[in-house]
Amino acid sequence: MAIHLATPISQLTRVGAVTAKRLSKLGIANVRELLQHYPLRYEDYTKILDSRHLESGLAGSMVGTITAIAKRETSHKHMKLSEAELDDGYGIIKLIWFNQPFITETLKEGDRIIAAGTIERDFNGWVIKNPAYEKATLGQTLHTARLVPIYPATYGLTQKQLRFLVSQALAAVAEFWEIIPEAIKKQAKLIDKIEAIRAIHLPENQAGWQRALRYLKFEELFLTQILTEQSRRALQSATAPAIPFQEQATKELVSSLPFKLTTDQRKAAWQILKDLSQARPMNRLLQGEVGSGKTVVAAIAALNASESGFQTALMAPTEILALQHYQTISQLFPDKPVALLTSKHSRLSTRVILNGAKRSEESQRLSTGSQPEAGRPLADFDSVPLSRDSAQDDGLQTLSRNDIKKAISEGKVDIIIGTHAIIQNDVIFKKLGLIVIDEQHRFGVEQRKQLKDKSVVRLVPHLLSMTATPIPRSLALTVYGDLDISTIRELPVGRVPIDTKIIESSGRAQAYRFMADKIKLGQQAFVVCPLIEDSDVLGVKSATAEFEKLQKIFPNIKIGLLHGKLKSKEKEAVMADFRTNQTAILAATAVVEVGVDVPNASIMVIEGAERFGLAQLHQFRGRVGRGEQASFCFLFPTTSSAQVKHRLQAFINTRDGFEIAELDLKLRGPGQIYGTTQSGFVENLKIASLSDSELISETKNFAKMIMDQDPLLARFRELKKELQNINRELHLE
Ligand code: ADP
Ligand code: MG
Repeated sequence: MAIHLATPISQLTRVGAVTAKRLSKLGIANVRELLQHYPLRYEDYTKILDSRHLESGLAGSMVGTITAIAKRETSHKHMKLSEAELDDGYGIIKLIWFNQPFITETLKEGDRIIAAGTIERDFNGWVIKNPAYEKATLGQTLHTARLVPIYPATYGLTQKQLRFLVSQALAAVAEFWEIIPEAIKKQAKLIDKIEAIRAIHLPENQAGWQRALRYLKFEELFLTQILTEQSRRALQSATAPAIPFQEQATKELVSSLPFKLTTDQRKAAWQILKDLSQARPMNRLLQGEVGSGKTVVAAIAALNASESGFQTALMAPTEILALQHYQTISQLFPDKPVALLTSKHSRLSTRVILNGAKRSEESQRLSTGSQPEAGRPLADFDSVPLSRDSAQDDGLQTLSRNDIKKAISEGKVDIIIGTHAIIQNDVIFKKLGLIVIDEQHRFGVEQRKQLKDKSVVRLVPHLLSMTATPIPRSLALTVYGDLDISTIRELPVGRVPIDTKIIESSGRAQAYRFMADKIKLGQQAFVVCPLIEDSDVLGVKSATAEFEKLQKIFPNIKIGLLHGKLKSKEKEAVMADFRTNQTAILAATAVVEVGVDVPNASIMVIEGAERFGLAQLHQFRGRVGRGEQASFCFLFPTTSSAQVKHRLQAFINTRDGFEIAELDLKLRGPGQIYGTTQSGFVENLKIASLSDSELISETKNFAKMIMDQDPLLARFRELKKELQNINRELHLE
């Protein structure tokens, strides 16, 4: 059968329904997607080992004959072993596989194989544990004797399977088209795309891999830069609602706050209000230290939009954050209709829309979720303000989702808070004027594009993104040259700096006693734990284990448990208990990373601290130190290696999120061997990352050049087609 890029994955040899389903979890449905599933890294098994010259730790491959093979069970722990002897013509080494008893079915005495792995020495000689192996000739290997690709995988899919499938799929590689214009390809000294894709999977050597990586990163960044350039140009000529400064209402809000705004907050708010007053769409990033009070600044912007008759959509990355924002904002604006929409929740804060019908009937209708009669004129609806409590009593809080969405589309809700996906996919706005995106790192270009089309008013909404993990300034300039930035550096007065400490295992007991003492004083603690296993993506296992451990350590303290698998109602209950100090300790996965605001919490314990990026640690640390009490951050590393200490110490010495972002970049560095697909900053980059700063500026220049020459890209058909595909995908997302 001929294999094409569009061939469904299920038509490849050895792909049944089960495997196809597993592949689909990786986003792979056809050959093209399989070929664009790039390796995470490579094992270097290029070196051909000689049994006469071995040393521990040496990685490579050995070509030889199996002279003995058998399986057995260890007396201790009953582990199943398969053991073989491999003779390379000069001597014998041992191969041991753990828990792979089937190996003795596939390998027989006398077989010629290539085995690859890392040499170790045990009591009776040289051994390779769990070696990769294949019956193949040198030069045609897939799993040994080369740079062997290691792919992002999922449960039930082995690396061997993925490699086997990719090697089949490569039959279609010639169907890939060049997207990068020929002249640019030449000038940038890029190899051919076909060669790049082939070599990213099965590089001949390091140099070949480097060239492939450069091509693919270049292509990705180039496309991103063109998209950015296109939206920049589009924005410049677009019309946004001019939202005048609502002085009276703004002053009232500010004076109703229980605190004084910091100078930086005032400045940021002022810059935003100035942007809003223009008929040109705002494109502003609000960067601010964790806990610096970005939410209230966004609220000021939302207030101004609302007073001018425009809606605000506030998008949060998680349910917990959306809920928290909903609580904060609906408290700030007790008289304004504020809606919450996540995949699990829908709520409307205070004001409920009723028409002339009797209220009891109306509440019945709303809570059973039936549609109002068609054709009833909007003007017939009255807005009846209800206090929060009476609204609850009326059962009106249980408005169905559809009712809330309808109210939004009729322009009866001023502020809509929810998770990204929901707001993007489900909601039609009547008059959307402002989008606020909290804690997401792609700064909303796509979101705005999508939401614009969802607003009945054909005006481009203003956009405000907020982040506490700022991208380093140097990069901000190269990546988002035209993004306006407001920065809140100053923390509200009265915040005590957080005392951060590395705790060695010998100091654990003391740290726990310290926690117990603080809890006795009425304070609270977070305990964050890293994922133990790759398969435990939701952190159920890690967090549960931590929770059980803590229960033993603190038998008299109430402890909450938060992980990704909890239903959102449960999550909400856990957070509510913690917020109201019903539980004094919260054992959690990284879900508490962003935004969570519990001022009474004064201790942040981070287990496996070295496993987190510095920016992430900084986020965790920012969860405490929000009240007046002295706050602490304890880092529990799992190793005491000098490198780990160095990194954590650097973190301790730095309080400034911006510096930490730079530091992270420096310590992790662009030179991370064999590259990483995770940028941590920009989610839609698959292979390039923000640390590719030279390529970023190079591609930016090329993108500008092309757009200047040919703004519609009429002469670059393949490029244009690809951009259309990307846009289509983004819209379907
Ligand atoms: P972040 O910038 O991390 O999103 P938040 O907006 O969640 O921070 O604010 C953190 C906490 O600080 C909140 O409890 C908020 O009410 C409080 N806060 C905001 N501004 C001030 C201020 N000027 N003075 C005192 N507390 C403030
Ligand atoms: Mg926040």
